Amino acid sequence: MTDPYLYPAFLGPYGENDALLEKLLVEFMRDHVYWRRNVHPDDPPPIPTRAAQQPEFLAFEARMRRELHALSAALKRSVPFHSPRYLGHMVSDLLLPGLAAQMLALPYNPNNVSAEAAPVTIDLEIQVGLQLARMLGFASDPADVACAFGHLTSGGTIANLQALRLARALKSFPVALRQIAPPGLDLPEDDRSAFRLTPRQSIALLDEWLRWLGTRDATERSMWQRRLVGERIEQLGEARFFARHPTLEPAPVLAPVTAHYSWAKGLKLLGMGRDQLRLLPTRGMRLDMRACERELADLERQGKSPLLAVAVLGSTEFGTIDPLDELLALRDAATGRGCGFAVHVDAAWGGYLATVLREEDGTIRPRGDVSKEYARFPGERTYAALSALAGVDSVTVDPHKLGYLAYGVGAFVCHDQRAMALLAESADYVFDHQVDDDYFSRFRQLGRYIPEGSKPGAAAAAAYVTHQVMPLDHRHFGRLVRQTILATEAFVDRAQRFIGEVAGQARVCIPYPPESNLVCLAINPVGNRDLRQANRWLRTFLEPLRMTRGSTVQAHAFFTSSTTLRSDLLGRDALLGILDTLGIDACSIRDDDADADRLLILRHTLMNPFLLDDENGISYIDRYFEYLRERLQTLILGERASSPD
Ligand SMILES: *Cc1c(COP(=O)(O)O)cnc(C)c1O
Repeated sequence: MTDPYLYPAFLGPYGENDALLEKLLVEFMRDHVYWRRNVHPDDPPPIPTRAAQQPEFLAFEARMRRELHALSAALKRSVPFHSPRYLGHMVSDLLLPGLAAQMLALPYNPNNVSAEAAPVTIDLEIQVGLQLARMLGFASDPADVACAFGHLTSGGTIANLQALRLARALKSFPVALRQIAPPGLDLPEDDRSAFRLTPRQSIALLDEWLRWLGTRDATERSMWQRRLVGERIEQLGEARFFARHPTLEPAPVLAPVTAHYSWAKGLKLLGMGRDQLRLLPTRGMRLDMRACERELADLERQGKSPLLAVAVLGSTEFGTIDPLDELLALRDAATGRGCGFAVHVDAAWGGYLATVLREEDGTIRPRGDVSKEYARFPGERTYAALSALAGVDSVTVDPHKLGYLAYGVGAFVCHDQRAMALLAESADYVFDHQVDDDYFSRFRQLGRYIPEGSKPGAAAAAAYVTHQVMPLDHRHFGRLVRQTILATEAFVDRAQRFIGEVAGQARVCIPYPPESNLVCLAINPVGNRDLRQANRWLRTFLEPLRMTRGSTVQAHAFFTSSTTLRSDLLGRDALLGILDTLGIDACSIRDDDADADRLLILRHTLMNPFLLDDENGISYIDRYFEYLRERLQTLILGERASSPD
């Protein structure tokens, strides 16, 4: 059943909390107007009071109303993300605190590029970074020099880009520093070893360099700074940097094949080249650690280390979680051999899962305590990965996914704020670091550190207020996440029964056990042994389950999404195993045919907290499976009726 804690948290599937939202909106809209009037209350109103009676005004208003009505009518064809009948992509209803905060902040129009344009919301953005850092287990006290730092982006794509930028800056900085060789600094002995430091080692070197600079007089200091800037990869560009260091080559990014395509975009955008992305195989849709170890050993034999190893926490298509703990163990061993690298976690989807493991005091809950609240979650591997988060270098989290905020809010969090100095636009960053050592005042110049420029302060307000109302621990925000995992467990149980119920008509399986709140389902009608045929059949099966342009919301009983299983994603053997369960012949796989080299499957994201509606004795999960059963029957009977024999 739905946790009553969540009743006031959403507008609700039926708009149940309409009065609450309306009250808040009217209250804060008025409050905004009073604020306008009170900026200089004796300034008279430039829009005359009588203006509202003039024909031009009325015509403008009429035209505006007409267009707004048209928009409002058109928007009725939107996908009903808020409905418990929506089981498709990574989106659901919006959290009320965030929605209200965003609408409240919008007319003030703060621009979080810098404090000058956003004196209030820029601090809220820095606070959101700290809130997320705490959720992840990073140091989150700004008084601590090694405190984490996080900022918002338009989404996970740009957060991942920022991770690449930072990893490249940290990896190449020691090489640049070696080139100018400030006397008395303890520098790596050659370019290759300088290019194999971990971010932590590189940050220590950066710290040492800044302290050394602090001992020089102003003229000498700026001379040394200029020399360093002139050697940095960000100044020279990849081609000239590597030409200057002939023993070095661009370092690859290691990521599982399940990684989001934003990684390819990022590498192209930064001019590093798509070829630098080494996609590693998976086992059960999780990064295959043996393959990862082989790749690392291979690089090590050539005296290299990767730029970044990416672990995905909640893969976009499958919801699976990479063995982050094992990746960190590999990194530590490699670091010991002088072959360090950065570890980034792409938790755009799964970041907020960490809330269910987090105590209010910030510590990690023992697995036994967590598992008491679930039938199966968290699996041993899931728990190990989630509780290892604190050991990574940076993380991407999307508040506009499992944070239930409106689109336009992703986040990048790095474990040690000192690293950000390397991303600062303009060469005088070191001065700030020395002179202005206050955490907040440094990052109030946010635009200097982030890929974007002008950005919505209202989004930061939404994230901040949400995390204040629902702190990111298991007693607050975690209760929402818990609801989604319980729904997933109920979904899996119901799916098992469904598999038996429809055995006469179709073979159905859950291709791999879900680790969080995303479940896939493979279906093949009994008697069909051909992969292409299975895909065609499922495509028809899916038609009423997705919104198309021009279709009305009411015409759909449920909404779901789909994805495909390819052998390069989960391994040939695993794919063959699934095809076998479905009764599909392995020989019908055609590697040269995009319709027969992969298996189309249903994909369900179970984010809606009202899937199990005890209040009315309705389980939308049960109803969904009943719907699937009817659909199956209609399709199969239809086929029999239309078949020639
Ligand atoms: C969604 C997602 C992204 C991209 O995030 P956007 O917010 O869509 O830009 C990146 N990585 C993963 C794992 C994701 O799920």
